[in-house]
Amino acid sequence: MPHARPPGRRYDSTVPLPAQTTRLAPSPTGSLHLGNAFAFAVCWALARQKGWRILLRIEDFGARIQPGADALCLSTLEWLGLDWDAGPLWQTREVAPYREALARLHEKGLVYPCACTRRALEEAMQEAQSDASAPNEGDHEVRYPGTCRGKGISAPLPDFERKLSPQEIKTNLAWRLRVPDGPIAHRDTLRGDLACDVQKQVGDFIVGMKANLPAYQLAVVVDDMRQGVTQVVRGADLLDSTARQMLIYQAFGAAPPAFTHLPLVRGQDGLRLAKRHGDTRLLGYQARGVRQERVLGLLAYWAGAQTARREISAGEFTAVLDLAKMPRDTIVFAPEDDLWLTA
Ligand code: GLU
Repeated sequence: MPHARPPGRRYDSTVPLPAQTTRLAPSPTGSLHLGNAFAFAVCWALARQKGWRILLRIEDFGARIQPGADALCLSTLEWLGLDWDAGPLWQTREVAPYREALARLHEKGLVYPCACTRRALEEAMQEAQSDASAPNEGDHEVRYPGTCRGKGISAPLPDFERKLSPQEIKTNLAWRLRVPDGPIAHRDTLRGDLACDVQKQVGDFIVGMKANLPAYQLAVVVDDMRQGVTQVVRGADLLDSTARQMLIYQAFGAAPPAFTHLPLVRGQDGLRLAKRHGDTRLLGYQARGVRQERVLGLLAYWAGAQTARREISAGEFTAVLDLAKMPRDTIVFAPEDDLWLTA
């Protein structure tokens, strides 16, 4: 459903585009909570501070997508005072770019079809990789042992255009990237030099799903490449995905964007913010009449941009945000935070 763009600034086409581009990329799996809002608000404020262009992308592949959640995400971002310069782009509305990307990887001999049945793989792995959406922290991931890698199975490339029946999905093949052995190095703006051995961690991971959808790892790289994204600012729950995405950039011979992984917001029990921590959905606060300046004030406090909880506008957040003050570790959603919002 088309959605009105917020009244943010739109770049005049006669003026050259800014050199750097970032994106807000919500997965419409439900209502945004304080943890999501933190990452989006920081990405937005950083971009506005540095003059980056902001794209909005709705990452709506996958089993966890909720109908109508896209419109809710957009209105919540608007309510917070965040705007964007282009989009939204809904991934599911045009799948040709993902099909072409998979075909290119196939031409280079970098992907292969995998006929492993659900039953053939461990139960845990079925859970972990049967979903096309981003593997956020807490998702259970198991390493693929490479069963089909050397089998030389020949299969037509998937046509992501075609919706499969549940019966067809059962017999359809997944497509996996050939992952080299050894660590993949990358540099994070906040965390410095990092390395991850993708082969050891997850093995040849899925880029084309049995359900005839591009997997998150492929879709996100294809989009960031074609949309010219140069700055990715997101939650540390996706840190493990970065080395996988670097491999896909390498496969296309493309330069990766700069990555900034922000600390995760957790409950006092150390677990990632979720329903168990009460209603931290922004919609809930909105319904209870909490002012957005109060929410932003808490997010800015978490970001180290102010030393006490104080109401601020999105514009002020932009002025005070300083990555050097951003905590590297987890942010804990404390009872005082809840009181600040609801008292
Ligand atoms: N859509 C993903 C999420 O909401 C973010 C993907 C990304 O930033 O790469 O978890």
